[in-house]
Amino acid sequence: MSTIFQKIIDGEIQAQKVYEDGDVLAFRDVSPQAPFHVLVIPKKPIRSLAEAATEDGALLGKLLLAASRVAREAGIEGYRVVTNVGDDGGQSVPHLHFHVLGGRRMSWPPG
Ligand code: 5GP
Repeated sequence: MSTIFQKIIDGEIQAQKVYEDGDVLAFRDVSPQAPFHVLVIPKKPIRSLAEAATEDGALLGKLLLAASRVAREAGIEGYRVVTNVGDDGGQSVPHLHFHVLGGRRMSWPPG
């Protein structure tokens, strides 16, 4: 069954896109946890970081570069990039995504 992020990739569900290329899509989180909260996802359906393979190395690099790019273009200097993996990691959508959170001071450690 197609995930909500696959539906966004396929254009079946609308999202506020901030960056897109052939491999990567970045869009605003529908439930932002910070003034700036963007999700960066691969168009390739990888379920989580735990399921990324050696062959996905270049794609993972592109995702991180896209995360840095969207923050820079938004004028966000300090931010956090995080990916939740599995139930214990707090992952709710089984399609790899990096959260880019900024626009406020982040606390540490995360919950
Ligand atoms: P996770 O909990 O898997 O790490 O993160 C999933 C994120 O996807 C959550 O922050 C949630 O707010 C976001 N999200 C879930 N459904 C949608 C949607 O339909 N549109 C957008 N833009 N974000 C979504």
